[in-house]
Amino acid sequence: METYSTAQKQRLIELNADGAIINQKFETVEERNAFFKKAEKRLIKENKEKLNKFIEEERLPLTLSIEDSLEKWLIQKEAFSRVATPVIISADKVRKMNIDHDNHLREQIFWLDGRKCLRPMLAPNLYEVMRDMYRVTRRPIRIFEAGSCFRKESQGARHMNEFTMLNLVELAGVKNGEQMERLEVLARGAMEALEIEDYKLVRETSGVYIETLDIEVDGVEIASGAYGPHPLDANWGIFEPWVGIGFGLERIAMVKGGYQTIKHIGKSIAYVNGISLKL
Ligand code: ATP
Ligand code: MG
Repeated sequence: METYSTAQKQRLIELNADGAIINQKFETVEERNAFFKKAEKRLIKENKEKLNKFIEEERLPLTLSIEDSLEKWLIQKEAFSRVATPVIISADKVRKMNIDHDNHLREQIFWLDGRKCLRPMLAPNLYEVMRDMYRVTRRPIRIFEAGSCFRKESQGARHMNEFTMLNLVELAGVKNGEQMERLEVLARGAMEALEIEDYKLVRETSGVYIETLDIEVDGVEIASGAYGPHPLDANWGIFEPWVGIGFGLERIAMVKGGYQTIKHIGKSIAYVNGISLKL
């Protein structure tokens, strides 16, 4: 039995062929090559049609329309405010997240020089902004940010070095003991806003204070939630209960749009809205 060569497989994945096509088996190499030619031709045609449709009708990439839906839900229904903070953060913030201790993120940071790096997550900036907003207003703080985060990843179908996180945080609006319940309400609200019905909420406990809630679709983690009081809070001068969820917008687009890899739908110069430009 023959399967597609590595180069042929890569080309089919690039053109976003179905898994069933990519894993097809053949009697002979000649038969395989003939099938490949046909499949490639058909997929090129499909990609061209999609590109024209994108230009004529859709115009907004799926990842950005997902951001839009979450933003509308948060601002209009949940009374969250949007903030925007810098992509470049100080080494001090990394230290306060305890990333430089036993954390897999430690090796993943893009350092710009000894004192600055590209943010691997939004949490450090949000910790600081929510703390100060609360200090000034003394009212429950609900804020979110959507923006690029950077991690040195070993690549693969679900990880990129640059990806978009939407992180919501709520400080002092939730009672102690009710954080997990609130996280679940927010997670379900997000899935409703995105019209995703088939998802799983997965609770995990690590250490005494650390409990997390992941949202999974088809076994893919699309978001991760956490809450405090948390051992790190004191580093940030935070003493009120809080909850937060970080959504990976490209992961959501990948599962929603049925893309073979996250690279199709992430920030790219080779793809536009999941459509290959190598046609
Ligand atoms: P994973 O275990 O899948 O690597 P993680 O637990 O390290 O993810 P978190 O730090 O919880 O990720 O980040 C929140 C969300 O951001 C994840 O649920 C995922 O959707 C997304 N995400 C994290 N890392 C990446 C990446 N390198 N590329 C794309 N999306 C990512
Ligand atoms: Mg996670």
